[in-house]
Order: sequence, then C-alpha cells, then structure tokens
Amino acid sequence: MKVCPFCAESVQDAAIVCKHCTRTLPTPPVRTLTPDEQRRVTRTNRVMLATGAVLALIALVMVISAAVEPSALPSSVQGDDLTQLVDRVGQPDHDTSSEDEVPRPPFVTRILTFTPEHVRVVYRANVQMGAPPPYTGTWTLVGYADTMTNQRLEAAVARRRLATRARLAR
Ligand SMILES: [Zn+2]
Repeated sequence: MKVCPFCAESVQDAAIVCKHCTRTLPTPPVRTLTPDEQRRVTRTNRVMLATGAVLALIALVMVISAAVEPSALPSSVQGDDLTQLVDRVGQPDHDTSSEDEVPRPPFVTRILTFTPEHVRVVYRANVQMGAPPPYTGTWTLVGYADTMTNQRLEAAVARRRLATRARLAR
C-alpha cells in the first residue's frame, strides 16, 4: 500500500488513480540515487530536482486532461463514456468497480481492462460525493493506462490498440 499525496488515504501500490479522490497518482521514480551520487547532490541540485518533479506532475495532469474526451452529445442520447466504449469495442476482459467496497470510497471508480491490448481504462462515477449506487449512465472517462507499465496512455494510442476489437465487435 502507498499513501495518496492528495488525500492521504491508502491505495494499492499498483494504483494509477486514487480511488478516494480520483486524482492521478505520481509515478514512482525510475531509480534511486546510489549513496555516492546522493553525497554529490548539492543543496541547489535538490531544489532543482524538486522543481523538476513539480513540473513533471503538472505535465502529467495536462496529459490526463488532454486524454479526456468530452461527449459531444448529452449522455441521455449517447450513453456515458463507458457505454460508448463498450458499444464500440465490446466487453472488456476485466471490469472492476469500487462501488461495493466497504466503506465505499467518496469517489467511485471503475476500471475496464483489455488484456491482450494491454489497455486499462479508468472511469469515475460522475455523481455527488457519497451518492449510493447504481452509477449506470454516469461513468465518465478519467484516462487510459498501459497494463504492463502502469504508465498513462494517450487516448490516440489506446484507440489504436483497441482498433482490432472495434472491428470485431461490429
Ligand atoms: Zn487521494
């Protein structure tokens, strides 16, 4: 378990999105410095590293925002983001929701996994905080991730990977 830096709740180590506050969790550093390298890092460098980490986080948030595709039509006409995806590519290999967790997290998330394509799609229930299920028709896209690396995927990349399924589903 790790602790979400935004809401301080515990989340799974592999989580890419906090199930409590739905924010995207920072990705872990690629490697840590050796003791020798650490000694050589000056105070100035530490400040620069911290600034870099903040900028990286801002960049990540911008990527997430860009990945979210707002619906052009009202949801009553088109179905929610999740329904649209399943209509297009068929049922996922795994479908998990935090709605049945006890206690239910304040923001409910649902994750569809397409195993062969290594695509994970994250949705949140677009309802008032603490509202009870069902959340049908409210699933709003948060973003995509690669199931192998847990890194964020751009929408175009996720769409390309799911294109084969999209053809089969028709
Ligand atoms: Zn959180």
